Amino acid sequence: MKLTKDKFKEDYQRLLTELYSLDIKDSEVSEQYFTLGNLIRTYASNDWKNTNESYLKKGEKQIYYFSMEFLLGRMLKSNLLNLDILEVVQKGLQEFGIHLENLIEFEVDPGLGNGGLGRLAACFMDSMATCAIPGHGNGIRYKYGLFKQKFVNGYQMEIPEHWLRNGNIWEVRRLNKAVTVRFYGNVWLENSSGRLVPRYENEEAVLAVPYDTPIIGYNEQTVNTLRLWSAEMHPQDESHEYGAFLKQQSQIENISEVLYPDDSYYDGRLLRLKQEYFFVSAGIQSIIRRFKKKDLPISHLSEEVAIHINDTHPALCVPELMRILLDDEGMDWESAWDLTKKVLSYTNHTIMSEALEKWPIDMMSTLLPRIHQIICEIDQRYAADMRYRYDDHMIERTRIIEGGHIKMAHLAIIGSHSINGVAKLHTDILKEKVLHDFYLIFPSKFNNKTNGITQRRWLLLSNEPLRQFIDSKIGSNWEVNPTDLTNLKAFQNDEDTLFKLAQIKKLNKQRFADYVKRTMNLTLNPDAIFDVQVKRLHAYKRQLLNLLHILSLYFKLKENPNAYIYPRVFIFGAKAAPSYMYAKQIIKLINSVAHMINHDHHIGDKLKIVFVENYSVSLAERIIPAADVSEQISLASKEASGTGNMKLMLNGAVTVATLDGANVEIRDQVGPDNIIIFGLTDKEVYQYYHDGSYHAYDYYIHNPILHRVLNALIDGTIPGIEIEGQDIFDSLVKYGDEYFVLRDFEDYRLAQEKVDQIYRDTLRWQKMALLNIAGAGIFSSDYTVLQYAKEIWDVSAKSTQD
Ligand SMILES: *Cc1c(COP(=O)(O)O)cnc(C)c1O
Repeated sequence: MKLTKDKFKEDYQRLLTELYSLDIKDSEVSEQYFTLGNLIRTYASNDWKNTNESYLKKGEKQIYYFSMEFLLGRMLKSNLLNLDILEVVQKGLQEFGIHLENLIEFEVDPGLGNGGLGRLAACFMDSMATCAIPGHGNGIRYKYGLFKQKFVNGYQMEIPEHWLRNGNIWEVRRLNKAVTVRFYGNVWLENSSGRLVPRYENEEAVLAVPYDTPIIGYNEQTVNTLRLWSAEMHPQDESHEYGAFLKQQSQIENISEVLYPDDSYYDGRLLRLKQEYFFVSAGIQSIIRRFKKKDLPISHLSEEVAIHINDTHPALCVPELMRILLDDEGMDWESAWDLTKKVLSYTNHTIMSEALEKWPIDMMSTLLPRIHQIICEIDQRYAADMRYRYDDHMIERTRIIEGGHIKMAHLAIIGSHSINGVAKLHTDILKEKVLHDFYLIFPSKFNNKTNGITQRRWLLLSNEPLRQFIDSKIGSNWEVNPTDLTNLKAFQNDEDTLFKLAQIKKLNKQRFADYVKRTMNLTLNPDAIFDVQVKRLHAYKRQLLNLLHILSLYFKLKENPNAYIYPRVFIFGAKAAPSYMYAKQIIKLINSVAHMINHDHHIGDKLKIVFVENYSVSLAERIIPAADVSEQISLASKEASGTGNMKLMLNGAVTVATLDGANVEIRDQVGPDNIIIFGLTDKEVYQYYHDGSYHAYDYYIHNPILHRVLNALIDGTIPGIEIEGQDIFDSLVKYGDEYFVLRDFEDYRLAQEKVDQIYRDTLRWQKMALLNIAGAGIFSSDYTVLQYAKEIWDVSAKSTQD
């Protein structure tokens, strides 16, 4: 938008006084923050209104992205950037003596997601708005976001993150758009003039109240909506006796209280199923209500609406849409079923069996009796349809209900027209292994959409020095057309460019080192290699492999203080699910090793370990610009895509990687000389599974370095890990080493020696860094959502950039 500094200052001064009856000079950060937030909202409000109005036109297909998680991160700076008023506001505030940075830091980072899946949803929201795709988010307004992590004596402690305590300047409560969601009770079908209609009794009605957040596109016009639902007591129940009222109120508000803190793990608790149905039902009801404003017959729904299911958590969209079409709209089964499949599409995010959702039949039939009936009917019709084409085994393996459980992935696949994986390798594994039966039955439903990241948050906002530098080299068109970053390749042998790039990295490292000094009182050497592994803590991501390697370096230095090791700072950030004991033990181990190494005066600044507390989007924005090395070392086949890998390469880190997830595509972009690949391939992993021929113990016995490192876990070398050390040792040496840590150790160690070698040659290293930045454009989520729009949702985005 067009805004002069003087106009901004005038607006700001007036609003602050209106809101708080204060002069700017007497105001505090909180008042300054809320004033700016309010002002941003008024600046965006016309575009928001106009966007919404334009979306009511017939033929303007609307996309609804259903996700249990939206990990947005702070919004203040991102909104300023997307409105294109960041600089004006910064300067204007400066003249009032206000540092924008302080207002940015005041905002609580809303942690409404666990990790990659929720962050992907947030990147997609930003990209859909920017690409002028009519994309709406639909999710839950959790009162408490993901827990806040603290380390006490090296152990993870979880404390609640009450992110709404100071209010939320970005959301609008729309009570007039509330809908009712029903749970429990009895349901039966009655014949009413030749048609079966459901009758209900004794249900529990919950009021779903939407809170809308504007999602401002980086394009001067589009402002989309993220709609998050909050559970409240229904007004009809407020006449109950007071004690009963309070009890029921807290039971109902429970539904949108907490985000389940499990990442890539299925936890079959009743409240979670309630949450899933709650936001699915509320979302679909509001979609249908909006569709009706267009005054079209319901059979046109699939021309006007696409609903996307992000992982299986919203898979109840299938029976819920069926319910509305059958019961409320009076459609016949076949027509309703055709329409449902046309409207719905599904993204699979994992192949790991512990993450695959399946709900006990009893739980479903008690909590959602009508939905249960519909699922049974879908399942029976599916089995009957297939009977003539496939054998019984095939049908049993693929049907929805099996062994007293409802398989949500099967429901999502059968009930939608598209299923996609999130990286080429992942999609291939789905087709060939995990969902092979379905691939044989529905080959045309399967497609790949490799994940992406928004270059706005992950470069323009978080790495301003690099942004300016790139602009100075190739102009700024890459900001809206990120594959233009390949123009940087012209500078790959330009010494001046490469030295400048090194300077920028050093600046960012210094900035992060200052933060670590301030918050952890730990001094980092900014000339060391900053080696970063930030992501959820999970055995398959193999933070342990990283740690074992660090221990090997430590022992090498202990034996020979002059050993040829380039100084390194290892940076970790990771939360573990509170119930995931093994992951928490690994956190304790990393912290104990960090304590031992960081306090060893013989080591000095040759090795340091920084384990930041409470890894989150705002911490990621600090760490990633400072990374030299990106650790993407999951066991091949286990990481569906990864997006951290993309953020880090975009910021000029060199990746140490297994051929897993999108790492494979990163290698294809940068070429094998500009990424350091090691370890088993997915084929080799599957071969081991097939033969049962992996014997971790042999690696312990035969590799002396590994032997020494593993013994350190149990021989008292590392203080404070008596139990954890033994348990982790046993998991690797005795109990089969599920994720092949020992198998990949030597190869990883050699890959790390390569890092050490290459880094000594600044020009060579910076050339790799430059080529990583140059190759990162293709991973913009702008391209990803455009592909979804074209190939899955069947909409064409209006091009706003000419
Ligand atoms: C990007 C991101 C992730 C995902 O990281 P992966 O390395 O892809 O697992 C997790 N958490 C946060 C806060 C992120 O920003």
